Amino acid sequence: MSGPDPETKMQFLFALRSKGVTDKRVLAAMEEVDRGLFVRGLFSGRAYEDMPLPIACGQTISQPSVVGLMTQALEVTPRDKVLEVGTGSGYQAAILAKLARRVYTVDRHARLVRAAQLVFQQLQLVNITTMTADGSFGLPDQAPFDRIIVTAAAEDAPGPLLAQLKIGGIMVLPVGQSDTVQTLIRVRRTEQGFDYDELRPVRFVPLLEGLGKDG
Ligand code: SAH
Repeated sequence: MSGPDPETKMQFLFALRSKGVTDKRVLAAMEEVDRGLFVRGLFSGRAYEDMPLPIACGQTISQPSVVGLMTQALEVTPRDKVLEVGTGSGYQAAILAKLARRVYTVDRHARLVRAAQLVFQQLQLVNITTMTADGSFGLPDQAPFDRIIVTAAAEDAPGPLLAQLKIGGIMVLPVGQSDTVQTLIRVRRTEQGFDYDELRPVRFVPLLEGLGKDG
């Protein structure tokens, strides 16, 4: 595994900082996790550019600066149990695994989950548990979670995910009509209820129902 050359890596980190990713732990995690391992085929040469790229099953690996901003907004601590809905390439989950105690990551496409698992093994990220499931229902058996991140857009925060967030917990997700402008929001669960704040406009693939048809 070679990873980017030093200059490419410097440019990658510079792009993150200039887009507002300033948290030192997040930057360190993103420096450690080689995005090149999560992008295959035609687009592998562009892995260190700050843009989303196509992956299998018609999905995308998110733009690195968006991954950084979402991770930063999630305020992950080393004690946290985190749920990610939308494994995709596994890149976001790998970064979370560097920052949290344990990461559960779920995707509706078994094929994506299998590919991500192989990279996690290669990187010896033993604190990630993968699952093929419709993540809008969360993972009731593992709930509650300190942090929840959704990397596909729903019209609203799914009820089961809100219910599986600990009091004091944080959830970050894009909401809005698919394929139009969506808003990245942060939800904090308090003793009294849920506090919402809007972070920025984003564009994600839609959160879909049921399992993907890819075996
Ligand atoms: N976090 C990913 C990018 C995710 S793209 C990365 O770092 O590469 C969004 C992913 O959400 C896709 O892989 C898609 O299959 C998945 N997805 C969409 N709806 C879902 C659902 N209901 N449950 C689980 N995964 C879902």
